[in-house]
Order: sequence, then C-alpha cells, then structure tokens
Amino acid sequence: MSVPQEKTAVTSSISDLRWHIRDAKWRGDSIGLVPTMGALHEGHLSIVRQSIAKCDFSVVSIFVNPTQFAAGEDLERYPRDLDRDLGMLQQAGVDLIFVPDSTDIYPEDFSVTVNPPNLAQRLEGEFRPSHFGGVCTIVLKLINIVAPDFAFFGQKDYQQLCVIRSMVRDLNVAVQIEACPIVRADDGLALSSRNVFLDEEQRQTALSINRTLQLAADQISSGVTDGHEIMAAMRQNLVDAGVDSIDYAVLANPETLQVADNVIPPVVALIAATVGKTRLIDNLLID
Ligand code: AMP
Repeated sequence: MSVPQEKTAVTSSISDLRWHIRDAKWRGDSIGLVPTMGALHEGHLSIVRQSIAKCDFSVVSIFVNPTQFAAGEDLERYPRDLDRDLGMLQQAGVDLIFVPDSTDIYPEDFSVTVNPPNLAQRLEGEFRPSHFGGVCTIVLKLINIVAPDFAFFGQKDYQQLCVIRSMVRDLNVAVQIEACPIVRADDGLALSSRNVFLDEEQRQTALSINRTLQLAADQISSGVTDGHEIMAAMRQNLVDAGVDSIDYAVLANPETLQVADNVIPPVVALIAATVGKTRLIDNLLID
C-alpha cells in the first residue's frame, strides 16, 4: 500500500487556490483540472490518474453544484463524504484539492450565466431543461478560477462532454478538454455516485442498461441499419428487464447528438432510465 502523499494541499479559498496555481506556473508546471461533485469512486480516480500522468500539477475540485439540479431532483440526497474523498485524492497523489463554499461560487447578487450550446437541448436537455446551463456555468467558472492547461471529463456523461467542448470552442476558452473512458464495475454497471441508492434487486435491473447498449452494438454489427428498429428493441429490452421509466434509449450522431434514423457508424447509443428512484445514464460509442 502506498503512503498518503504529504504534498496534497486542500483549500476552499479562491485566492489561496490562485496562489498555489501561480506558484506552480512560476515553476513551469502544466496544470490539470478534474471537476467532480465528490462521493468519489474508481471512475473519478481513473480521470485523476490521467491528469496526474499528463500534467505536472493536478487540481481536483469537489463541489455539488446546486444550479445543475432542478427543483425536485436529488440535490439534497446527493451522496457526500468529504473525508473519504480527501483521503482517496491524497492517496492518489493529487497536488491540490479545491472545495469551494457555495457562497463564494454563487454570491447573493450572482447573475451572469452561460447559455449552453444547441446540442444541450436534446436528450438530457429535454428532461432536465436547466441542467446544462448550470453545468456550463460552473465548469467555466472553475476553468476561470484554476486556469488549467487541460480539463478532464468522463465519457460516462457523454452529452456533457459534447456540451463542454462546444462551449470551449464557441467562447474561445483557453483550455484543452480531455475525454476519459467509462469505468464499469465487474458486472458491467457504469460506476456512478448514485449507484449507492440501488438495492441488490434494483442493481440487477440496472444491469439491463449496459446490456441494452451491447444489444444495440450487436444489432449494428450484424447489419441492421434501421435506427428506429434498433431503438425499439432497446426500449423493449429495458421494459422487459423492469426499469421503472425510460427517458430515452437512442442511437445518435456522436458529434451532433441528432437521433440516427439510418445507422452509419460511428454512432453513440445513449440511455437514461430510472430504477426505483434512481435515474441512471450510460452510453456506448459504436464504431
Ligand atoms: P460527477 O462527480 O458525477 O460530476 O463526475 C465527475 C467526472 O467524473 C465527470 O467528468 C464524469 O463524467 C466522470 N465520471 C463519473 N462516473 C464515471 C465513470 N464511471 N467512468 C468515467 N468517468 C466518470
């Protein structure tokens, strides 16, 4: 077992963070940023390791961003375990952990927000209309605070990655976005902080999400080109497995996220479904 790194600094202060960054840049370090909402798991840690491998100085932020949750969503019950998170990040060898206070990020008179790109209106945007506005605003703020050379995001949130890439391109944000592969449990379920809400039976049901993505890939590789035929089979598979509701189960263009009527790979299969009270998302890029 490796010994926790002494060098990890933890701060909730924006000005303190900027001193650390100034120091690192003065040394000539490249800076990596990994934004998270905490309740960390191996998916987060794999991103952290990619930042540490690529950058001289890695910053991980932990902030459960209220503006990306709509009323009635799970902001209050979102899992939080800061001590455990700090231990995991220190163990991983992160240089700086940023845990801002909500009042510093959103002071009382806060009013400027990012209007997300058009592709934010599809899929997640249909079911969570204010979500990507909140995501874009917090990500741009974190990038402005940390001024990283690279910012790392997981492909688990595929549409989020597309939205952030578009924002960075359209607003000429001086950062390079790095995409990191989805990490799954041995049973195939994509790791998510929300998986702790699933009991054993619900977890079995939730496995149908990954299996359904595989089913779509199998149909495509066996030559089916009618997107609607495959999407109908995807829905049926989820219904048969007993998921409680399906927001979407689609094949889409990997860049525009427009639903694919006619499947010409590459396409991305994307699912959002609720098991019990837990809304899960997953996706698979099919080349
Ligand atoms: P979150 O804490 O849920 O906001 O996630 C922080 C980052 O971790 C985002 O870029 C997510 O896409 C990424 N992430 C979450 N779960 C996974 C996973 N299973 N595999 C890879 N990346 C993930």
